[in-house]
Amino acid sequence: MPASPVVTRFAPSPTGFLHLGHAHAALFGWRLARAAPGGRFLLRLEDIDPGRCRPEFAAAILEDLAWLGLDWDGEVRVQSAHLGEYRAALEALAGRGLLYPCFCTRAEIAREVAAAAHAPHGPDGPLYPGTCRHLSAAERAARIARGEPYALRLDMARALAAAPGPLSYAERGAGRVRCDPARFGDVVLARKDVPASYHLCVTHDDALQGVTLVTRGEDLRPATDLHRLLQALMGWPEPAYAHHRLLTDAEGRRLAKRDRAATLRALRAAGRTPAEVRAMAGFPD
Ligand code: GLU
Repeated sequence: MPASPVVTRFAPSPTGFLHLGHAHAALFGWRLARAAPGGRFLLRLEDIDPGRCRPEFAAAILEDLAWLGLDWDGEVRVQSAHLGEYRAALEALAGRGLLYPCFCTRAEIAREVAAAAHAPHGPDGPLYPGTCRHLSAAERAARIARGEPYALRLDMARALAAAPGPLSYAERGAGRVRCDPARFGDVVLARKDVPASYHLCVTHDDALQGVTLVTRGEDLRPATDLHRLLQALMGWPEPAYAHHRLLTDAEGRRLAKRDRAATLRALRAAGRTPAEVRAMAGFPD
């Protein structure tokens, strides 16, 4: 059987200007694709959160990447143009009884967690205590009919029962890694104000776009456990993963939006060449 071609992607959220950390992530994926015969490198804008994403940042991402010397294959996928597809995936999960509406506010959840004798924590903070999981079908329907806003949560216990386990993933160059998606608890797959979550959209799109090697930062490694569960539930193919290191500043702190001087725009304005910036991002020519 011929090996499947390497398809990688860079999937930034347009919530600010790209900085050296993004350049590292983009170059990491781009180089793996370009080094492989027939390899493809895709660009996707993860802009489903209208409160945080701005079109001017999306335009700046394309311009900054091109300036840096990167090219990508095919159309740029813009997630906000595909909300119906994410809704369909949510409906498929809901139709199997794997989702439930959650009406809790953040404050209510925080109060419940504070009052609990034992509040387990997951990668994204305290686990949801499960309040709305116990609502009756009639109460759910009544509250929805009243127009109460709700998020959709994955019923983790049911999801684990429905997905053939044990789950694992292949980390490039490091063998298989066992997954423990239960540590996310009843994770939100559609927020009250955003029609689908990062976890759902990213796994949906990686499957749809035929991504075979997911390249992204170490910080997202825990999420991979959950993503493997979603892939198993939805029957989506399993990509390989390569989690890369995160660039840090002189104090050893992870680069973030606050580091204005490290944006590609600022470096370019200061007269740095693309080759210099590639080297600063960890990829000398
Ligand atoms: N959109 C995510 C971010 O900007 C990255 C998603 C991924 O690579 O899986 O952090």
